[in-house]
Amino acid sequence: MPGDSLLIINKNGDSLFISDSSINTLSPEAFRAIVEAHNKTASSDSMPDPFLIMMGVFAFILLFGRVIYNWLKKNKQFKKAMAAYETHYDWYDDELNVYNQYYKTLPSSLKSLFLQRTANFMFSKKFVFTGIAEEPRMRLLISAAAVQLSFGLEKYLLDYFKTIYVYREDYRYGLYNSPFMGHVSNDGIHLSWNNFLRGYENYTDADNVGIHEMAHALTYVNFVATNDPGEDIGFKKRFRNFSKTARPIFLKLQEGAMGVLTPYAATNYNEFWAVSVETFFEKPAQLQLQMPELYAALSQLLNQDPLTAQKIINIKLMR
Ligand SMILES: [Zn+2]
Repeated sequence: MPGDSLLIINKNGDSLFISDSSINTLSPEAFRAIVEAHNKTASSDSMPDPFLIMMGVFAFILLFGRVIYNWLKKNKQFKKAMAAYETHYDWYDDELNVYNQYYKTLPSSLKSLFLQRTANFMFSKKFVFTGIAEEPRMRLLISAAAVQLSFGLEKYLLDYFKTIYVYREDYRYGLYNSPFMGHVSNDGIHLSWNNFLRGYENYTDADNVGIHEMAHALTYVNFVATNDPGEDIGFKKRFRNFSKTARPIFLKLQEGAMGVLTPYAATNYNEFWAVSVETFFEKPAQLQLQMPELYAALSQLLNQDPLTAQKIINIKLMR
């Protein structure tokens, strides 16, 4: 019929318009050839944009390059740390035997590993000293506090945190009215040196700002930072079990049943966790006596039992 036409839609949803006059004059072979040629064009039109392919390749190279760069950087840093460990072994050992009661009581079979981890931690962080001149032992002792807490775990570098800020004494931070002895925020781990030292000088009062802040840092890496290389899957799984025991204890604490824990533990669950860890290391016998379920839950979670000579419960979990 004059004015009518044929509209062919191919599999890609593309259309081909053929006028009625063409239909009338074209042979069936020519008509088929037109349709096939159109389908071919349509399938080449559906090919991905070369620009998008290039962008994808570029993004992949960037990502891959970054992974390789980070791996090389970590490897170089580890070699530096192990060289320092070899060179300064006696000095590390002497300092920690004096200032770190936990290290002092470690079995000799674990001391080398502890020092290696401490050296690696030390070389993986940038230390910023504010209002205080750096002393050679500062990096070592602070790193040892982190390694003490994570000694039973596979991941011990708290990777998310690149910087540790050290202040002379209590410091002001942000808009808070009260001075801080230490805190953890997304920019790093903050510690006041006089309070840090005091924490280890009296190792039986369950007041240790170094261990306290490292406890906050450990849960930050595992539950706040996303996809961080420091995330420890085993620790995260065990933390759920820990909370089944610890949460009800925390709730009782908020009702006033303090026991061996300081009242600060009732502030919130985060502080309960950090104070419990301080008490676990500094008053293990009292904690086990008064709150045996909490002591057992902490032991399982951290893979450590400070009341035993061996300290570590399952060596395999450290690997
Ligand atoms: Zn705290």
